[in-house]
Amino acid sequence: MTITDTHTHLYSSQFDEDRAEMMQRAFDAGISRFFIPAIDAAYTDAMLDLEKNYPENVFLMMGLHPTSVKETIEYELGHVKEMLDKRSFCAIGEIGIDLYWDKSFLKQQQEAFRTQIRWAKEKNLPIIIHCRDAFDEIFEILEEEKDDKLFGIFHCFTGTLEQAKQAISYNMKLGIGGVVTFKNGKIDQFLNEIAIENIVLETDSPYLAPTPFRGKRNESSYITKVVEKLSEIYEITTEEVASITTQNSKDVFGF
Ligand SMILES: [Zn+2]
Repeated sequence: MTITDTHTHLYSSQFDEDRAEMMQRAFDAGISRFFIPAIDAAYTDAMLDLEKNYPENVFLMMGLHPTSVKETIEYELGHVKEMLDKRSFCAIGEIGIDLYWDKSFLKQQQEAFRTQIRWAKEKNLPIIIHCRDAFDEIFEILEEEKDDKLFGIFHCFTGTLEQAKQAISYNMKLGIGGVVTFKNGKIDQFLNEIAIENIVLETDSPYLAPTPFRGKRNESSYITKVVEKLSEIYEITTEEVASITTQNSKDVFGF
């Protein structure tokens, strides 16, 4: 069984004490493909280190996370561009808009999102979208930018059925993780109305641990809880969930 975690921050300092053991638990559980979203320039060295240690299994993205869009936007976007020109990455992410923590940089967040979408199109790369309290603002930009070069993943999708359909209409797959196992997570109520070909799996480790680990540090091996939940929702085996969603991840990333 090959399980793909399309969104996991394995370079987080929360794993500094036991990263090798944590990775081994994931390998033992059948997870062998890890896609690593960027946040900002402060994490780049840790990401490169991670890749050096697991070159066969870990695939790096590059991008500026919306909660890191602040006064330093110019420097941060410059860093992203420099890295993109220097070497190859599997995607541009995570990028988007987050109005949950702070609304004061909305304009800059919109600008950073738009700019990075255009870089992704130039390089034929998928985008990985982070959206928190910002569906309208995200959809507005995707509506402007939609064309056959726009594709990617709507990471940690937590919207309604209508919003799911709209995201899919922009060539996005839905990243489904721990929230689908939550009692009040809501998306489990309608996910069976979305074809599984539109779904990829993710943990967003170290955040958003699935039930029964909710509230604890998340790690990629816990993705098996998400696989089990999707096997219930779609009434297929866990092996089928793993292989279909791994194929979906290959459709996005190209490998
Ligand atoms: Zn993330």
